[in-house]
Amino acid sequence: MSVAEIIVDVPTMQTNRPFEYLIPDALSDVVVPGMRVEVPFGRGKRKIQGFVMKVKDTSDFQGKLKPIVRVIDLKPVLSNEMLKLSYWLADRTYSFQISCLQTMLPSVMRAKYKQFVVPIVENDPEVVALLQGKPTFEITNQLDDETIKLINKLRKNKKVDIQYVVQNQAVQVKRQAVTTDLNVIQLHEEKSKLRANAKAQIKLLEYLTAHLHDLPVEFNVLEKDYGISRAAIKTAEKNHLVKITEVTKLRKPVGMTPEKTTKMSLTDEQKQAVDQIDEAITDEDPKTFLIEGVTGSGKTEVYLQSIDKALQQGKTALMLVPEISLTPQMVNRVVGRFGDQVAVLHSGLSNGERYDEWTRIENHEVKVVVGARSAIFAPLENIGLIIIDEEHEASYKQDDNPRYHARDVALWRAKVNKSPVVLGSATPSLESRARAEKGVYQMIRMKKRVNEQKLPQVQIVDMRDAENSAVKGDFSPVLQASLQETLNKHDQAIILLNRRGYSSFMMCRECGFVLKCPNCDVSLTYHKDLGKMKCHYCGHEEPMPQFCPNCRSKKIGFYGTGTQNIEQQLNDLFPQARVLRMDVDTTRRKGAHAKILSQFGQHKADILLGTQMIAKGLDFPDVTLVGVINADTTLSLADFRASERTFQLLTQVSGRAGRAQKSGHVVIQTFNPDHYAIKDAAKQDYETFFKQEMYIRHQSNYTPYYFTTLISVANQDEGKTLKRSYWLKKQLQTALSDDAILLGPSPTMISRKQNKYYYQIIVKYKHEPKLHQRLLEILNETQADAKSGFTVAIDNEPQHID
Ligand code: ADP
Ligand code: ZN
Ligand code: ZN
Repeated sequence: MSVAEIIVDVPTMQTNRPFEYLIPDALSDVVVPGMRVEVPFGRGKRKIQGFVMKVKDTSDFQGKLKPIVRVIDLKPVLSNEMLKLSYWLADRTYSFQISCLQTMLPSVMRAKYKQFVVPIVENDPEVVALLQGKPTFEITNQLDDETIKLINKLRKNKKVDIQYVVQNQAVQVKRQAVTTDLNVIQLHEEKSKLRANAKAQIKLLEYLTAHLHDLPVEFNVLEKDYGISRAAIKTAEKNHLVKITEVTKLRKPVGMTPEKTTKMSLTDEQKQAVDQIDEAITDEDPKTFLIEGVTGSGKTEVYLQSIDKALQQGKTALMLVPEISLTPQMVNRVVGRFGDQVAVLHSGLSNGERYDEWTRIENHEVKVVVGARSAIFAPLENIGLIIIDEEHEASYKQDDNPRYHARDVALWRAKVNKSPVVLGSATPSLESRARAEKGVYQMIRMKKRVNEQKLPQVQIVDMRDAENSAVKGDFSPVLQASLQETLNKHDQAIILLNRRGYSSFMMCRECGFVLKCPNCDVSLTYHKDLGKMKCHYCGHEEPMPQFCPNCRSKKIGFYGTGTQNIEQQLNDLFPQARVLRMDVDTTRRKGAHAKILSQFGQHKADILLGTQMIAKGLDFPDVTLVGVINADTTLSLADFRASERTFQLLTQVSGRAGRAQKSGHVVIQTFNPDHYAIKDAAKQDYETFFKQEMYIRHQSNYTPYYFTTLISVANQDEGKTLKRSYWLKKQLQTALSDDAILLGPSPTMISRKQNKYYYQIIVKYKHEPKLHQRLLEILNETQADAKSGFTVAIDNEPQHID
């Protein structure tokens, strides 16, 4: 008898306990861990999906086991490593294992797709019988067990492969290509018969002679690289010199094909870093390095040469970046160095493109994977190195279930793969820096910019001063003068508008009425280009009012500054300057980020104006001025990480100035010039900031001195939300010692979203052995909660509290 342990997907009855099912004899060779299967569930005829976790010979189950109905995948979609990871992940993030398994799957397998058998050995009699003259064989859920067994056997013998096709998308693209039946001597003979002015024909035959072993060659290649036209190929075909055929190619993700780069000779600091990492790769030592390197210290080159060391050892490397669309330069540098060996995974890819990249990884065609958060689940094997760039970024934590942090997953995978992890940042998270302090992580400091280039000079402008508060717009005289100077020198400037907690809203000057979203407790944001008021939480939109809905006065105004408004001010102040704006509105279309950045890189604009998204990783040699319009808006957030986020943002954006030969200048406008986050950022002094912030975290009992867990409750009825929150608090209380701190329930900053009221409870603790179990119990109750209209969420180590 063989039995499968299966984690089933029953939305309202989830549990992390696997169910046992009988594997029918017909499927005995087929069912393996990591596959999805369909099984009966409950009393009725309901059939549901599940993941096979284990296959075994016996069962302790007393009753009669039900059999698996059918297999959904004919090959496992998750590796053993991922299956193992799912146990840990569910436990660590207080989520159901099924949601972890679903999260690890490439998104295409959650979408609608078809499965096909594709031949590898075309002339095998069994393959021929299966295909019956067709190029592929579709796997439907009507197949009998014999056929499934046959397909399985052929796949194991590498005679066929199985491919997934997302609906409306072909897995592969077919391209026209050229080949020939002639051998080298015949090609020579044919060439000598040609007239001297048949230049294209001669060129084509020469190409074929030189590349006889690499045929067929695509039309594209001949046309683009050798100037051999389509017409010339057709002529050659007519004269029986070549044959026209088709090649199928996996689609390559869109984007630029960057220029090939080679290793730079390292600075002393870089060399020391690479040597230490190399040693850990060689020793298969799963230790964690924290590279604290000032902006421009050349961390990227350290990453690239460390990856190279891993590849030299015959291993693979995984590299995470905060958000690919925001960091195209970083991706280009990796692809530029390692070319075809790199797979890039990001949200901008279509399902088909993602599937292609995923397949290339699975087939061991790539050695390096670069991607955003979810790339940490890439099916890469034999990992020799994991890198997380800008490790402090909040985007590494997922906001939804499972609320995992990619850094935690990286450490887990590193241990299993016996590989080191490299965390890099100019402004490490307090958690990581504190761990380095304790010796849990090994610290590597890079204090100097490459070529000894000085850090930019930073000027803090106190916006409370009379001369600044007198100006009409948002540009202080100092910033105006600096911009003018930059423009005079034909250098470039970056202007940051800090948009966190900031927006352009409508207010009546007569009665003070503010136009709010009917569903959420937030003011609507004015969108000039659409002429509409929009809610950024639920998407509600309405036309811009002509008069106050409350008192009918026409004296309505728009407050708060948006990028469009700043752009207008720039145009008024510097009519001759070319301004590029980068914000959510100008980057909605695919590839828009990269386009704006490449235009700026080619110096087709003088000023790049943008929100947070311009602060990261940009490296433009002509940028000598960075201006920050409003440094403080992040400070005002009611979040224990507000200072940290402000410091990070200002340091990162300041680091964009003066990176090449020219020296840089930064102007920070603020209403809090004495705040340590702003003062230390101006000096690019992470260490001083770290000490001050650690002191404050210590005083207020926050991370990294205390662990933090946040439990939030939402319901349409505010009274019910509160009642449930208090009940949960009591549940927690009974599991906690007196050393733990329990805060709340308190309304979140925006207490009503999409017609639901949100309350939160915060647990801060050092050592509470009973807490974990209690949280798991609360998790199990969330399903009953959901049935009565409650949304209860558990966030372990939240990135923000709002
Ligand atoms: P970081 O990521 O630490 O801010 P980068 O990796 O972007 O810094 O490096 C800053 C600049 O220095 C880049 O333009 C990079 O090409 C250049 N650079 C890095 N290492 C070297 C080196 N060893 N020799 C010459 N130039 C270097
Ligand atoms: Zn809303
Ligand atoms: Zn009014």
